[in-house]
Parts: sequence; structure tokens; C-alpha cells
Amino acid sequence: MWRIFTKEKGEIMSIDIEDLKVQGVKINYYYICKRKLWLFSKGITMEQNSSRVESGKIVHENSYKRMKSKEVLVDDILKLDIIQGDYIREVKISSKMQEADEMQLYYYLYYLKKVFGIEKKGTINYVKEKKQDELILTSDIEEKIEKTLIDIKYICKQLYPPKLEKLPYCTKCAYYEFCFAKEEI
Ligand code: SF4
Repeated sequence: MWRIFTKEKGEIMSIDIEDLKVQGVKINYYYICKRKLWLFSKGITMEQNSSRVESGKIVHENSYKRMKSKEVLVDDILKLDIIQGDYIREVKISSKMQEADEMQLYYYLYYLKKVFGIEKKGTINYVKEKKQDELILTSDIEEKIEKTLIDIKYICKQLYPPKLEKLPYCTKCAYYEFCFAKEEI
């Protein structure tokens, strides 16, 4: 059991990482749409129907071929795309979902630090914008990740998904038909 002590409202509380750890993709979905997170947590996956996911895979394969590295799976929950020296590197098509992408990578950095004692930095390359962001884990970000993990556990435990709310990117989401089927009849 990995127990980590963190500050919550000025008080020290303990976080059981073993109990709260999740796949990195759930952190990503949490910051995109909590309903999407819930659907995914119940095993409802529709990503195979999404052209966005398909183009993401192509970018992923082409970029990583050039970098000559291979994916590393840690504890079946972290998928580290590129490890280069002090850095964990990710490649994304665009920065439209920047917060979600960043929080997923921060979670990887957090997990490596807390569980394995390995301290790394992160970079995200955004192909469309041709820009690179550097990510450094701070204590504020660690706290944000811990709150996120607690909230994810709460959301995934619920019997019903969070209320449907139309978001600007719903039409691009793999769950669009699932969420809005009635509206199209
Ligand atoms: S279609 Fe919209 S509401 Fe439904 S899961 Fe996707 S982002 Fe969330």
C-alpha cells in the first residue's frame, strides 16, 4: 500500500495511491468531460468509431518513428510514449485540449515520483501549432492531482452518469451519438 500525506484545508490527510490510482486516460477525460469519464469507467468505449482518435494514432506513429523510441507501459496504467533522459515526451495533434493533456502528463510525473521515486520533467509537442510546452511538477500541481483522483473515484462510483451538458466539442466526441441520439430522431 502506498500512502502519501497531503495537505487539505490546512490539515494533513493521507492519500492511498493504491486505492486511487487510475489509468492516465481517465485523468484526461476528467478534464474534458466528467460524463465521458463515467461512460469510459463503465466499459462503454466508442473511441474506435472516432476519426479524431484515428488521426491521433497516425500522428503518434509517425512522430515516434522519427524519435526511435517505444511505448512503455507502467503498472498497466501509465503509457509513457517517449522517455528521453530527464524527460517524458508526448506528441499531440493540437492544443485544443491543453489542460487535459497537461494534467495527464503531470499525473505520469506524479506517479513516477510517488510510487517509484523517479523524478522527471515532461514535454508536449503540439504538431499543428508547432510548439512545445515544458511541464514541471510542483507541489500545487501534486495537490491538484490528488484532488482529481479523489473526485474521479467519487464520479466512477455513481450509479448514473453526470447530467448531460452540451459542450463545444461534443460533436467531435466519440460518445456523441450515445449522448445525443434522441435529439437527432
Ligand atoms: S458527447 Fe459531450 S457530453 Fe457526451 S461524453 Fe462526449 S463530451 Fe461529454
